[in-house]
Amino acid sequence: MKKIFIPLVLFLLMTACNQQGTRQNANQEAAKQKPRVAVPEFNADSAYEFIKTQLGFGPRIPDSRGHEQCGDWLHGKLSSYAPEVTVQKGKVTAFNGHLLSFRNFIGSWKPETPNRILLCAHWDSRPWADHDPDPKNRKKPVDAANDGASGVAVLLETARQLSLKAPAIGIDIMLFDVEDYGPPQDLPVTGNQDEQWGLGSRYWSENPHRSNYTARYGILLDMVGAANATFLMEGFSLQYAGDIVKSVWATAGRIGYSAFFLYEQGGYITDDHLPINQIRNIPTLDIVHLDKNSSTGFYPGWHTTHDNLEVIDRHTLKAVGQTLLTVIYEEQ
Ligand SMILES: [Zn+2]
Repeated sequence: MKKIFIPLVLFLLMTACNQQGTRQNANQEAAKQKPRVAVPEFNADSAYEFIKTQLGFGPRIPDSRGHEQCGDWLHGKLSSYAPEVTVQKGKVTAFNGHLLSFRNFIGSWKPETPNRILLCAHWDSRPWADHDPDPKNRKKPVDAANDGASGVAVLLETARQLSLKAPAIGIDIMLFDVEDYGPPQDLPVTGNQDEQWGLGSRYWSENPHRSNYTARYGILLDMVGAANATFLMEGFSLQYAGDIVKSVWATAGRIGYSAFFLYEQGGYITDDHLPINQIRNIPTLDIVHLDKNSSTGFYPGWHTTHDNLEVIDRHTLKAVGQTLLTVIYEEQ
């Protein structure tokens, strides 16, 4: 994914002192409205193993052997949990004109009900570590433990939980391909950058797996596994799905994860949620690791050779996964 810019004004009005009050009010409000249901325990060890398995295939770059093998494994795994799995496949055109093979995997629970939400992440990995601090590494592929594998891993563990306890609503878990094949940093900017990233989710948004598909809202996970992650409220998420952002953040705070889910606005990120919002008009938010203190605005290992298993922390996987399960099982 790609960062567009950081707004400096909007959320600065949320000062430190009113932030606490706002958070408490939001949490109390959310707690009042939510039904009391038993929410399964998200297993962070299981999610961690799902990351490790993906990395074991090597880089998951479109049209590589590792990509194909990982795709086959994801298809099998999702099929072992979801009552129905749809595979979309075909070719998409990259920024450089190359035709790339892709597969999107969609696992569906209660596929007939219109009362549903969608959860998504990208499973491909970036071909170039173009933000690596060492110029020698910038043509090397990224392991993408966090930027790709972590979101998929949290969704696979979510799928496993859904297979053990049926949700009250319909769910679609979508694993999108070819998110991270945008132009390398050292190329001059040409064309519409928004259309050069998130090619798998763009394809799905234009050609949903069911005609007239819709959902009440969507949640995208991207870079949800690094130690001490901070999830700021991403710009497009607030623009298109502001109420859902506030509700999800309130849920996270209520169950004890306010250290991860911060009440601060981050930048606008071109990611898989953008076509879903703009083409399918499904309000979709992005839970994405944004770091105000890093030079890129993302977590420091973003698009570097350091995005490997060592950055992954089970506490972060647990915070995101447990929040997601709570959101899902509390929906009626
Ligand atoms: Zn990326």
